[in-house]
Amino acid sequence: MTSPTARLLVIEDDRQIQRFLATALESHGHELLVADTAADGLRLAALRQPDIALVDLGLPDRSGLEVIRELRGWYRGAIIVLSARSQEQEKVAALDAGADDYVTKPFGIGELLARLRVAERHLRERSADAASSVVAIGDLSIDLAAHRVARAGVEARLTPIEYKLLAALAQHPGKVVTHRQLLREVWGAAHVESPQYLRIYMRALRRKIEAEPARPKVLLTEIGVGYRLVSPAPDAAGRD
Ligand code: CA
Repeated sequence: MTSPTARLLVIEDDRQIQRFLATALESHGHELLVADTAADGLRLAALRQPDIALVDLGLPDRSGLEVIRELRGWYRGAIIVLSARSQEQEKVAALDAGADDYVTKPFGIGELLARLRVAERHLRERSADAASSVVAIGDLSIDLAAHRVARAGVEARLTPIEYKLLAALAQHPGKVVTHRQLLREVWGAAHVESPQYLRIYMRALRRKIEAEPARPKVLLTEIGVGYRLVSPAPDAAGRD
């Protein structure tokens, strides 16, 4: 099975990173469009409809955050944030604004390619008929239509809140979901500043779905950002 390679748009003003991405991504068969500014990036996104947009948070004309907000109004592809360590807060804001994922600079090409594969898989799943509502990760299966969760074929008895949390993550396997997004989804907009709820319920949830709750392999913590349910194995997800 050969996977068609994606058309990528990089909105990044740092020439060194542009060159690094061009060399690395083109050698992996991706088509790469490069924009130095927010204005140019938005224009190329509209004109060329890239599959994935990589957006730097610090752009010369506008903030990357504004670019993401604007893109999310009409752009159907995936958005991956390129953030520097000094931009931790903006990174979370970018995810809240609708970015799908992020990589922190400096990043290795291996890490970036892995994130791109996840993003491509999401796009395929998004465009595929949503016939299957079951997310299967190892021996864990989450049936989003029937609201049922089973591990190794045995039903996991989740409380309504535990289920809502897991479902919020299972709707985007592999994607980091921020604390704020989870709190809003499960407890409502009034509780987005109460991350302690999350820690308590995540611990309970892990006891029910992880083989080793202290060393989670399914429900991962993204420190300071949120949580991520690991992606199903690529061959298990090959529904396209
Ligand atoms: Ca920059």
